[in-house]
Amino acid sequence: MVAAGWFIFAAMGKKVRVRFAPSPTGGLHLGGVRTVLFNYLFAKKNKGTFIVRIEDTDQRRFVPGAEAYLFDCLRWCGLEPDESVQHGGSFGPYRQSERKTLYRQYADQLIEKGLAYYAFDTPEELEKMRTLLATPSNPSPQYDRQVRMQLRNSLSLSADETDRLLKAGTPYVIRIKMPEQETLGFTDLIRGEVRFDTATLDDKVLLKADGMPTYHLAVVVDDHHMQITHAFRGEEWLPSAPVHILLWQSLFGIENMPRWAHLPLILGPEGKLSKRDGAKYGFPVFAMNWTDPASGETTEGFKEKGFLPEAFLNLLALLGWNDGSEKEIFTLTELIDSFSIERIHSAGAHFDYEKAKWFNHEWIKRSPANRLLPYFQEQFATLSDVGYSEEKLTRIIELVKERCQLLTDLKEQAGFFFVDPLSIDTAAIAAKWSTEKRSFFEGLIAYYQGETPEEAAQQEQAFKEKAAAFQLKPGELLLPLRIMLVGGKFGPGVFDITTVLGPATTARRIAHALTLLP
Ligand code: GLU
Repeated sequence: MVAAGWFIFAAMGKKVRVRFAPSPTGGLHLGGVRTVLFNYLFAKKNKGTFIVRIEDTDQRRFVPGAEAYLFDCLRWCGLEPDESVQHGGSFGPYRQSERKTLYRQYADQLIEKGLAYYAFDTPEELEKMRTLLATPSNPSPQYDRQVRMQLRNSLSLSADETDRLLKAGTPYVIRIKMPEQETLGFTDLIRGEVRFDTATLDDKVLLKADGMPTYHLAVVVDDHHMQITHAFRGEEWLPSAPVHILLWQSLFGIENMPRWAHLPLILGPEGKLSKRDGAKYGFPVFAMNWTDPASGETTEGFKEKGFLPEAFLNLLALLGWNDGSEKEIFTLTELIDSFSIERIHSAGAHFDYEKAKWFNHEWIKRSPANRLLPYFQEQFATLSDVGYSEEKLTRIIELVKERCQLLTDLKEQAGFFFVDPLSIDTAAIAAKWSTEKRSFFEGLIAYYQGETPEEAAQQEQAFKEKAAAFQLKPGELLLPLRIMLVGGKFGPGVFDITTVLGPATTARRIAHALTLLP
């Protein structure tokens, strides 16, 4: 039935419309961004439309600031929606709380068709049911076909009594009446045929006492009204599929149901990747820093940790997908070109932070200096009084980018270009220090105080000649010079450093280091 529906649908040549439907309840997790990315890639590949719909019907879980944060994250990633609360569009409003009146009529229709019923049970009554009706074979009873006739609803009460309660304004919810014994199924784009036995399923609430729909009703109504053709969502939503199938069958026709793709979980070192994993193993789990307004507690994000958005998207795409080759580095355009649902794996994908940093390192290495310049200026904002030209900054970036896994490493890798090293590893020099070496370096100070050529190669040549004059090997002198200039055994080529620092600073740093040596 579903497959037949697909052909009708394909034949109609509907324009692809996909949606990301977050609930504004907190930070945007990397699993969430991967769902956005797959939606986005599929939409762009098929010249379709990518929609963001805010699912805020659960007012108790609403977190102020979460919606704005979400759009900031998408902007940082470069995954701009075509339609949303912020982007407009002709299928709005894009916030479910503003569509409240739409859902009610469908709940009424479901009651008329016998697929839903009124339930008047108070929270206390439900609690009592859970203890009273528990049996060894059914220790934690749900509201389902086994117990529904023993509760207070329009199935167990007479029509007159139901009417009386409704007229008296008794609070109620509307629940789906799960069929007794039916097999429901659909063809998932990733997992293939999926079947559910309704006998094991409970009567989910569709409309709450405050008149707000639950996720189940709202998602079906909105996917219909927004003409969604494909829905990518996390695997955790798979158990909800039978409820949605029933609603589609009854309200809009199963042949119009979007094609679903349930994305595999992202696994951390201990099962499903969680915020706790991040705290425990020291890696970010959110796209950007998320500060919980209730506790004031901030959880680290990829942006602030020093990831490039290009690298972040690249590594997310490869969590559960590949293009069938060994290729690992993809630009967003390349991802759009090569994306296909068939190549998404159904098994959980392992997040490995070392691999994530590898992606970032590759991206930093490949990025032209002008792409990295804004990050560089941000890292060195306080040191701008050094007065380096943009050209010189670009040169520094080219010299150090290979050495940075994270953008935040720029500070350590390039800091010595801006300020004299705070400490100098004199112990590493002192071990093989000699009076000849001291004399050599005194000569080198004089060289840098004179008319020094700007070319690194010329400086190196002069260095070698001077070494030979002192009967020293250049190899024995390069490491001490490096340490004098940068403080330790790291950094790019020594004469690349001296040419950027300039002769005066070079001479000053050598002279200072000599005062610390025997
Ligand atoms: N509101 C759901 C969520 O927060 C959306 C699930 C779906 O895409 O159907 O993830």
